[in-house]
Amino acid sequence: MAGYKGFLYIKCRKCGKERAYCSKISITQHHCTCGAVTPFVEPLRVMYVMCECGHKTCRYKTNMTGKMFDVPCIKCQAPVAVEWDAKRQQYKTVIN
Ligand SMILES: [Zn+2]
Ligand SMILES: [Zn+2]
Repeated sequence: MAGYKGFLYIKCRKCGKERAYCSKISITQHHCTCGAVTPFVEPLRVMYVMCECGHKTCRYKTNMTGKMFDVPCIKCQAPVAVEWDAKRQQYKTVIN
C-alpha cells in the first residue's frame, strides 16, 4: 500500500482525537497520543484548508468522512469549516 506524506489531518479510530501535522516521510498509519494506531485502510481524501488569517491554502490528506467539520488553522488555530465536495471528491473550505 502506498504511504502518505506532507500535511495530514487524521482522526484516531480509537479515541476520536483529530490531529493535523506534516509528515516528512511516507507513512501508512497514524500514531495517536493515546497509543492507538490507525492504519490508512481507505485511500485518504484530499482536503483544502484556507484560513482568514491570510495563510495560504493548505492541502491535506485526511481520513475524515463527515460531510462538514472544523479544522484548526495550522497557523492561528482558528477553526476553519470544510465541507465535502461530492463533484470533486475532496474537501473544500466553506467560504462565508
Ligand atoms: Zn487516540
Ligand atoms: Zn489562520
